Amino acid sequence: MTLTSDDQSVATTYTTVDPRDGTPIESYPVVDVAGVAAIVERAHEAAAWWAGLGFAGRRRVLGAWKAAIARDAQGLVATISRETGKPEGDALLEVMLTLGHLDWAAKHAEPVLRRRRVKAGLMNYNQHASVGYEPYGVVGVIGPWNYPFYTPMGSISYALAAGNAVVFKPSELTPGTAVWIAGKWAEVCDRPVLQVATGDGGTGRALVAAGVDKVAFTGSTATAKRVMAACAETLTPLVAECGGKDALIVARDADLDAAADFVVFGAMGNAGQTCVGVERVYVEQPVAEALTAKVVERAKRIQAGGESATYGPMTLPSQAQVVSRHVADALEKGGTAVYGGLDSVGDRLVTPIVLADVPEDSDAVCHETFGPTVVINTVASIDEAVERANATDYGLGASVFTRDTHLGEATAARLRSGVVTINSVLGFAAVGALPFGGVKGSGFGRIHGADGLREFSTPKSIARQTRKAALNLLSLERSDRDMHLVAKLLPILHGKG
Ligand code: NAD
Repeated sequence: MTLTSDDQSVATTYTTVDPRDGTPIESYPVVDVAGVAAIVERAHEAAAWWAGLGFAGRRRVLGAWKAAIARDAQGLVATISRETGKPEGDALLEVMLTLGHLDWAAKHAEPVLRRRRVKAGLMNYNQHASVGYEPYGVVGVIGPWNYPFYTPMGSISYALAAGNAVVFKPSELTPGTAVWIAGKWAEVCDRPVLQVATGDGGTGRALVAAGVDKVAFTGSTATAKRVMAACAETLTPLVAECGGKDALIVARDADLDAAADFVVFGAMGNAGQTCVGVERVYVEQPVAEALTAKVVERAKRIQAGGESATYGPMTLPSQAQVVSRHVADALEKGGTAVYGGLDSVGDRLVTPIVLADVPEDSDAVCHETFGPTVVINTVASIDEAVERANATDYGLGASVFTRDTHLGEATAARLRSGVVTINSVLGFAAVGALPFGGVKGSGFGRIHGADGLREFSTPKSIARQTRKAALNLLSLERSDRDMHLVAKLLPILHGKG
C-alpha cells in the first residue's frame, strides 16, 4: 500500500505479528529515503539545541525520560513480550537492566566528558593543555530484535548523554518497542532529539547515507560489513556490535551445579537468541560426564512456549531452520545429541538441544546458532579449552568456571573477547561502568561505561599559550643559541632509555 503523510515520506506499511500465535499487532511505515532525510534534517537542528543544554540540562531531561518509562514499565514490557514472544518476566528484566544503564550514562556524562586539564610536560610549561569531549551531532542507531530495548538503548542512552541527537531505525520485527520509547521521549521533551524511522534494511541503508555523523549498528556480522562499506563512502564513523559464538570453560575444580545452572541459563534463556549467549562449553575431562548430566537434568525442566514458558518461540521465523541445519551438520559429522535433537526443532518453537563431542569444524561450533542449543566438548586441559575457545571468527563474550581465582583471572586474560565472566554468565550486563563490545567478527567500538560515552564523542584538545617560551622553537627565525640548547637537551631528556 502506498501512503503519504505530512510528517514522513512513507512508501509502504508493514504489519508486525506476535510470534507466539501469529496474531497481527500493528502496522508501521516503511520510511523511505526522502522520509529518512527529513527526519535526519530535523535531528540536526535538535542536536544543536540538545548540545547547548549542557550536561546538567541533559541530565534533567534524561532523568525525566527514565522516570516516565519506569512509571509505565508494564506497557513497555507488554510491547516487548508481544513483539518478540519472550515471557513478560524476561521483558521486565530487560527494562530494569536498560534503565540502570540510562541512569549511569546520564549521571556520568559530565564527570567523564567535561573538559579537563592534562599535563603539558616540562618542555611545554608555557602551555595550558586541556581535553574536552564534544558530541558528534546526529547518531543513527540501527538495532536488532532480540533485546529490542536493552540493545539499542546501549547506544541511544550513551549517545544522548554525550549530547547527540539520535535517529533510531529499529528491527522490522520490533518497531513497536521503538515507537513506545520515542513516545515517552515526546512526553518529557518537545524537541525531536530522539526520533524513530521504522522500516526494513532499506530504511537502515537510507539512514546510513542520510548525513548522520556517526552510525551505531547492532546486528549480524554480515549486515555490519554492508553497513561499514556504506559508511566508507562518506567516512562516517561506525560502532559495530555484532554476533558471537561465546565459549564457557569449566575447569575440573569448578562448582558444577553453578556451572550447569549458568550453562542452561546462558544457552537456553531467551530461546538462545542472545548475542552473548553460551553456544559452546569446553569442560575438562575428569568432570565432563558429571557436568553434562547436570546440564541435561536442568534442560529437561525447561518449558518451551505455552502459559508458563521458560522461553518463547523463535522471534525470527527462519532462525529455526538455522538451528536445524547446525544440529544436522553436528550429527552428520559425528557429534552426539545427549538431549533433544532434530525433532526438537518445530516451525517456530525449539525445545532444548544438548550436543556433545561435536567436531570443531562443524557449523554448531564455528557459526552463530542463535537457538536453545549448546555444544559440550571435552578437553584435556585449560590450555586446550582456551585454544578452542579462541579458534572462531567471533570474539564477543566468554566465561570461565573455577574455584581458583588466579586460574580464573589468568584464563580470562588469554581469552580473545570483549568481555569475560568468571563463575557466572552475563554478570557484566547490569554494570554501568563496564564497556561492552567485541573483537574480531563480533565488531569494534564500545557501548556502556566511560568508553561508551566517549564512543559517542569526539575529543577536542586545546593548548593555550600562557607566556612566551624560554626556547623560541615555533618560529621560522629560530636562533642558533636556542638550537644549540635543543641539541644539548635532547640526550638529557631522552638519552637514558
Ligand atoms: P540483522 O543484521 O539482520 O539486522 C540488524 C538491523 O540492521 C535491522 O534493523 C535491519 O533492518 C538492519 N539492516 C539490514 N540490512 C541493512 C543495511 N544494508 N543497512 C543498514 N541497516 C540494515 O540482525 P538481526 O537479525 O536483527 O539481529 C540478530 C543479530 O544481532 C545476531 O547476530 C546477534 O548476535 C546480533 N546482536 C548483537 C548484539 C551485540 O551487542 N553485539 C546484541 C544483540 C544482537
